[in-house]
Amino acid sequence: MQPVKIARGVYQLLGPGVVYPFDSTVFYVETDNGYFIVDTGSGMPGSPEAIISSLIQIGVNPRTRKPKAVIATHSHIYNAGGLFFFHRYYKTIIMAHQLDAPALESGDPALTASKELGVKFKPVPVGHVIKEPSTTIDGLVILHTPGHTPGSISVVAGIDEKVMLIGDALGRLKDEWKSSEADWQKTFDLISRKIDYDVLCTSLRCYRGYEIGSFLKQVEEEGPVWLP
Ligand SMILES: [Zn+2]
Repeated sequence: MQPVKIARGVYQLLGPGVVYPFDSTVFYVETDNGYFIVDTGSGMPGSPEAIISSLIQIGVNPRTRKPKAVIATHSHIYNAGGLFFFHRYYKTIIMAHQLDAPALESGDPALTASKELGVKFKPVPVGHVIKEPSTTIDGLVILHTPGHTPGSISVVAGIDEKVMLIGDALGRLKDEWKSSEADWQKTFDLISRKIDYDVLCTSLRCYRGYEIGSFLKQVEEEGPVWLP
């Protein structure tokens, strides 16, 4: 795909339907101290290659300019299946929350949702474990936004405009993922009322301006909307 500029310093590198319908959105996020990748899509053949192709189109060759880390918003294969590719070929450090890290490291079929896709999740070591409810790394704010999974995190990025990358934090709930409706409600409250941002990006797409309010209203009325 053609990478899509979301804001200064933030590009969407992949999204659902570019290679597979179940690939998550994938973002390039620039900071004063290097760049990060947020989520990696499913990792199924062709999907990681599409991310690399997008990176090269925005002038970044990950061989010569490596990402500081790949941030996994949570443990599901749709978002985290491509982590192995970055780990294997670029030795990239993987960053995830301590409550989702064990699933990424074991490849548990239920907790990675790989069972749903009927494929094996390729386990990866998590080199940087996030433990705090809120932390700032190289200017990126990382927030613990549990509910969809216990270790779901969101990233606030951007140089001028603030871009809130939430993965599936407002996505559906399932017992076998250890989802929590009470946590989901708190996360919804945080995302819809307590944080300022200009653009909101889920695993499916980005919203800006009036679209943000419409999306959040829909989620409030309908509950966890379908997201991978
Ligand atoms: Zn998910």
